[in-house]
Amino acid sequence: MQASGANTQAAIADLHAHTTASDGALSPTELVHRAASRGVKRLAVTDHDTMAGVPEAVRAGRAAGVAVVAGVELSVLWEGREIHVVGLYLDAHPVLRQGLDAQQQARWQRARAIDRRLAKNGWPGAFDAVANERPDPPGRSHFADWLVAQGAVRDRQQAFKRYLGRQGRAWQRPDWVSLESGIQWLRLAGGTPVLAHPFAYGFTGAWLRRLCTAFRAAGGQAVEVVTGRTTPTRVRDGVGLALRHDLLASAGSDFHAPGFGLEPGRLAPLPASVTPVDAALAPPEVAVSPAAPLV
Ligand code: MN
Ligand code: MN
Ligand code: MN
Repeated sequence: MQASGANTQAAIADLHAHTTASDGALSPTELVHRAASRGVKRLAVTDHDTMAGVPEAVRAGRAAGVAVVAGVELSVLWEGREIHVVGLYLDAHPVLRQGLDAQQQARWQRARAIDRRLAKNGWPGAFDAVANERPDPPGRSHFADWLVAQGAVRDRQQAFKRYLGRQGRAWQRPDWVSLESGIQWLRLAGGTPVLAHPFAYGFTGAWLRRLCTAFRAAGGQAVEVVTGRTTPTRVRDGVGLALRHDLLASAGSDFHAPGFGLEPGRLAPLPASVTPVDAALAPPEVAVSPAAPLV
């Protein structure tokens, strides 16, 4: 283990964060400033199925001395389950661009389907309310916040349990790209596919190993070992996955909003037994200009 503290590379590289381009609360510029104020030197902007926030973040990063990594968090399907794959260091590529367009269409269709199911269960008007507030397709968290505002549920958690989660009354199976094709899009765009938050899927150890095997076979290259939902035990388990499946290790806060989960850059250091996904790049201290190809 490296000594903990703000000077370790792991503490100043944050490779998973969201903006208002998807379900984050801060604009790309606000996110970069918040990360910079916490000592982050390399920040990946990884919105759900869109790279719309990246150009603004890159501009803000240049001014603030933060190397912004062009990224995305893809929702993919594997064995009928939704898995998240973060892509890092992405170039513009027509296949990825078309793929992200298709994912956005899938999000719109899913939002419409959730709206119909909520209406059947006594809560009409959700789509119009949440879609009117934003240009991008609404996600389940937006529906959850609407249900809370209506007094239908106490909080987001209850909204997912009763309505929006897999066991909920308004559950709609998403029509995402397959794990294999999603990884292919990222690789075509010169990106590094990272299996996001491996312990957030509720899988047993055997299923997680199957997932990692499939992920690696399809061209996946790294796994998040330190995430916003990490405990020391989980870091140890994540190291086990990285070593067993010959994957690089990534660290990201999965920051969405102030006061909600981890702040940008507030990460435990990656254990020395794994190879960081950004080890091949220049140290973030000197990477003031963007270290990665930009969109
Ligand atoms: Mn999210
Ligand atoms: Mn995720
Ligand atoms: Mn995320």
